[in-house]
Amino acid sequence: MIDKIVIANRGEIALRILRACRELGIKTVAVHSEADRTLKHVRLADESVCIGPAPSSESYLNVPAIISAAEVTDAQAIHPGYGFLSENADFAERVEKSGFIFIGPKPETIRLMGDKISAIEAMKAAGVPTVPGSDGPLDEDADRTLRLARDIGYPVIIKAAGGGGGRGMRVVHSEAALLGAVALTKEEARTAFGNDTVYMEKFLANPRHVEFQVLADSHGNAIHLGERDCSMQRRHQKVVEEAPAPGIDEKLRREMGERCAEACRRIGYRGAGTFEFLYEEGEFYFIEMNTRVQVEHPVTEMVTGVDIVKEQIRIAAGLELAHRQEEIQVRGHAIECRINAENPENFMPSPGTVSQLHVAGGPGIRFDSHIYNGYTVPPHYDSMIGKLIAWGEDRASALARMRTALSEMVIEGIHTNIPLQADLMRDAGFEAGGANIHYLEKKLGL
Ligand code: ADP
Repeated sequence: MIDKIVIANRGEIALRILRACRELGIKTVAVHSEADRTLKHVRLADESVCIGPAPSSESYLNVPAIISAAEVTDAQAIHPGYGFLSENADFAERVEKSGFIFIGPKPETIRLMGDKISAIEAMKAAGVPTVPGSDGPLDEDADRTLRLARDIGYPVIIKAAGGGGGRGMRVVHSEAALLGAVALTKEEARTAFGNDTVYMEKFLANPRHVEFQVLADSHGNAIHLGERDCSMQRRHQKVVEEAPAPGIDEKLRREMGERCAEACRRIGYRGAGTFEFLYEEGEFYFIEMNTRVQVEHPVTEMVTGVDIVKEQIRIAAGLELAHRQEEIQVRGHAIECRINAENPENFMPSPGTVSQLHVAGGPGIRFDSHIYNGYTVPPHYDSMIGKLIAWGEDRASALARMRTALSEMVIEGIHTNIPLQADLMRDAGFEAGGANIHYLEKKLGL
């Protein structure tokens, strides 16, 4: 087993990783910025190393500083969490070349899946359904581009192969706008991602976002842990997630999960991963893969009982998966509300000191968060300060527990989106289940 792990992240996920390490008897090294000395996991870790000033470009993205922290503390492995360097193939390669274990897939897999066109090709080869589209990059041939769009049917979406974070995409509604939109997206992609390759997909009008969680070891075993519905989004940012996704046919769900697991076996995937799909009128369409642990992994943990972060570490240590597919059972329903330090009216970040904190509890309630009484939320990073998760025997009881839990939460000194979440949990459209990705923005009047 691994003896010591560097946690190359901050906030709630760093604490989540620390907890998994402790349960496995693994020592931890917290690497943190100057602004993050008081983070909870920094205090709890066996060792801590300051890797730079507050801006993440100089700390959490500072590759040499992170590697040298692993060297000076004599650690064996680096866990990247999510965000920051977690999907950076060059980082994973540097980690391995420096003699450490990267807790994640092989660098070449990250690279394959990081390019959306090669990811789509790999998925097609594995029998995973994709969005009807250009089957590869758009070239200089304008007639071909126009013909493609006519065959696919408007509206279409032009997407950058190297895009991410909801950037590098443009919806086109008519032929007159097509070539201009392609040129513009190419130009933006060149500036933003250093790669001007773009492709075309049919633009689905009212899809849901449904994603499958997979785990694969380095011995060729791969399983899926079912799916999550993450359709409640604002500006492509997930706000609420749940598992399982409401109203999906059981046979289709199992078939899709198995195809994702099969895709992992084919590409030699290693670690935890997520296949993201758009789901519309009973059909799944692959859009991209995330080669890391996701923010919303707890809802899957709550319904399957599998500890995804511990599995990531066990896989990185070279062990076989602890579970076989037939042992995985989805029991009950789980909902996660992301808690952000932000003004619930205008969504502006609300950093500051938490003067009072009382955390909800009771059966089926979990709060993954690094905040504590007196903790100061710094202004430099993402505004998410925790995740409230509720499990119940069915969706209605999970929802009832979530409403109770939200009403119990007291976080004073900063603004949070708890009022918004409480409102959403009482919304008839959300309660019905199966709302599409535009639902929340429409409700908010955006
Ligand atoms: P990113 O890597 O930037 O997150 P994705 O490919 O995952 O990009 O797409 C982000 C979001 O854009 C999706 O969740 C969906 O809301 C929207 N989107 C992407 N492709 C399509 C499509 N073909 N039709 C409709 N919406 C799409």
